[in-house]
Amino acid sequence: MSVDLHVHTSVSDGTDTPEQVVEQALSIGLEAIAITDHDILEGISAAQEAARGKNIEIVPGIELSTVYKQKEIHVLGYYIDRENEEFLNYLTIFRNARRERIIKITEKLLGLGINLDLERVMAIAGDGSAGRPHVAEAMVEIGAVSSMSEAFEKYIGFNGPAYVPRFKLSPTEAVKLILSAKGVPVLAHPGLDVNKSLISELIDAGIQGIEVYHPSHSWDQINLYTALARVNSLIITGGSDYHGQNNDERSRLGSVLVDYTVVKELKECARRNRL
Ligand code: AMP
Ligand code: ZN
Ligand code: FE
Ligand code: FE
Repeated sequence: MSVDLHVHTSVSDGTDTPEQVVEQALSIGLEAIAITDHDILEGISAAQEAARGKNIEIVPGIELSTVYKQKEIHVLGYYIDRENEEFLNYLTIFRNARRERIIKITEKLLGLGINLDLERVMAIAGDGSAGRPHVAEAMVEIGAVSSMSEAFEKYIGFNGPAYVPRFKLSPTEAVKLILSAKGVPVLAHPGLDVNKSLISELIDAGIQGIEVYHPSHSWDQINLYTALARVNSLIITGGSDYHGQNNDERSRLGSVLVDYTVVKELKECARRNRL
């Protein structure tokens, strides 16, 4: 097994550039990796460029952030038509909404006595998808908290005093959006906060895969989701959810792998979606 289908880069909230991710994947001998940045496609072409002529395949992907009953649900999309106008429009709306939200979070933090330089937060986020991890990093920088996880626990996490909800797309809408852009929608890490009724709802909406293998999943969850996937003829995917060298040990690149046959299944599914 040598395929990691869930990888973030600095284009969203990962810390390695797409080029660094490709280099690392090559050094550990991976056959393929999927770039699945949050709500942004820009890292894919950079990774493909870096992989040109090398012995590794880049699977184009994205991880869409959605909300369902006040819970954060992620939907992965593979092999999306990156020229689909509806899809690109949505990403633009989303990206602007993310920036507006960062401004609101910094305002709330100011009210709590933490004075972040908005320009610095935006500089950390760069051109890509701005998110709470970038706020957390800026908070660590000025010494307001001692770690990024403390920033989430005390301030910007879901129940924190500086939490600001995000532009809301439902998981069902995300599945439909991915399908309309001819991609393959896959439910990301269901072990984090997904219940059975949502899974059936997503199956009705046309979800085509489920991320059975993820660092957060227990063996019981893996067995449960494998069974669900089999009964509903869903593609079984998996990946490390790598966010960079400094992140969780369990999420290092290649820590969760699937066989190359999964890439073939995703490609075949995308081909059928395009018919
Ligand atoms: P956002 O997309 O801006 O809402 O930020 C979500 C991202 O923040 C997730 O993908 C994680 O990478 C990170 N995150 C969420 N909760 C925590 C936490 N408790 N500690 C550290 N990072 C977190
Ligand atoms: Zn992330
Ligand atoms: Fe996720
Ligand atoms: Fe992820």
